[in-house]
Amino acid sequence: MKYNRTYNFSAGPAMMPEPVLEEIAGELLNYRGSGMSVMEMSHRSKVFQQIRDEAEADLRALMGIPDQYKVLFVQGGGTLEFAMVPMNLMRNGIACYIETGAWSKKAIAEAKRYGEVRIVASSKDRNFSYIPDCSDLDIPQNADYVYICENETINGTTFYRLPDTKGKPLVSDQSSMFLSRPCDVSKYGLIWAGVQKNVGPAGMAIVIVREDLISEELDERVPTYLRYKTHADSDSLYNTPNCWAIYCCGKVFRYLRDMGGLEVMHQRNQEKAKLLYDFLDSSALFSGAVVPQDRSLMNVPFVTPSKEQDADVVAASKAAGFDNLKGHKSVGGLRASIYNAMPKEGVEALVDFLREYESAHKA
Ligand SMILES: *Cc1c(COP(=O)(O)O)cnc(C)c1O
Repeated sequence: MKYNRTYNFSAGPAMMPEPVLEEIAGELLNYRGSGMSVMEMSHRSKVFQQIRDEAEADLRALMGIPDQYKVLFVQGGGTLEFAMVPMNLMRNGIACYIETGAWSKKAIAEAKRYGEVRIVASSKDRNFSYIPDCSDLDIPQNADYVYICENETINGTTFYRLPDTKGKPLVSDQSSMFLSRPCDVSKYGLIWAGVQKNVGPAGMAIVIVREDLISEELDERVPTYLRYKTHADSDSLYNTPNCWAIYCCGKVFRYLRDMGGLEVMHQRNQEKAKLLYDFLDSSALFSGAVVPQDRSLMNVPFVTPSKEQDADVVAASKAAGFDNLKGHKSVGGLRASIYNAMPKEGVEALVDFLREYESAHKA
């Protein structure tokens, strides 16, 4: 523990890989002989253009993004995409949404401002503890797209099989699973992710969008900044972008490539999640909140039999040096977010802690 860093189980902003942070620290005051920090650099400079271009190239290589998709770096974090998606993609004014938890509900509420929303599947009936069957959805002929939150950060579910969209473009919020496993981009019309969960610092979203979905003809009241076309036509340099976030994300993309890519990350993430889920399944005190087949590899919500004991575990974990294990205020309980940058040792230490807690509190 060279820097005395804590195992931070926060759902976001979340841990970044230590080697990346070290590299950033080394370049902080003078980026590669430029005489300045990336924070002080013109976004129109050659040196920043190279940072941006390399970040995009590394992301394209990591995910195997086909040429007919644009990669955009947009400010406003994840939440702005809830609005940008319907603003840009609702041409017939109707879209289908799958309701699987807190973040898809937010997306639905925002889309309703722009047009008709059809909720074509939902797991509300069982507290969003599973992914509904999406193999034969009732999708209207004129629907503009089908929307999913592919990994529900708060509820802890993941789609392991994508919905049959009956030929309509699939739009996916991948914020809390971005780059956690291989992804066949060609199956999607648009993928977006707020970067502070699994990649870099907060305040930016990455949008990967198929070119034919970038419309020229939007309602003229749609602000310039909120048009995907504005960003696509300017290499995401229409105005001053979040240069710092682009730089940090680029470092993470390069790091992931050097680690062996998304297959390797997927393997590691499966191993980490298995450690925790196996413990929860064998525990008499703790239990997971999601049906086994839909469990997220990234966000693991769990509970004890009582709210009081949940709070006691959170307090004890904090005293033992673990951070941010409290469940989201909307669902309670506990939650461990174990993104790419959480080392396996962190999950092992957490499981040891929970096991000891359990044996110390046996009735
Ligand atoms: C965190 C999160 C968001 C919102 O991101 P902000 O950058 O805080 O606006 C949206 N979707 C999912 C799945 C998230 O986990």
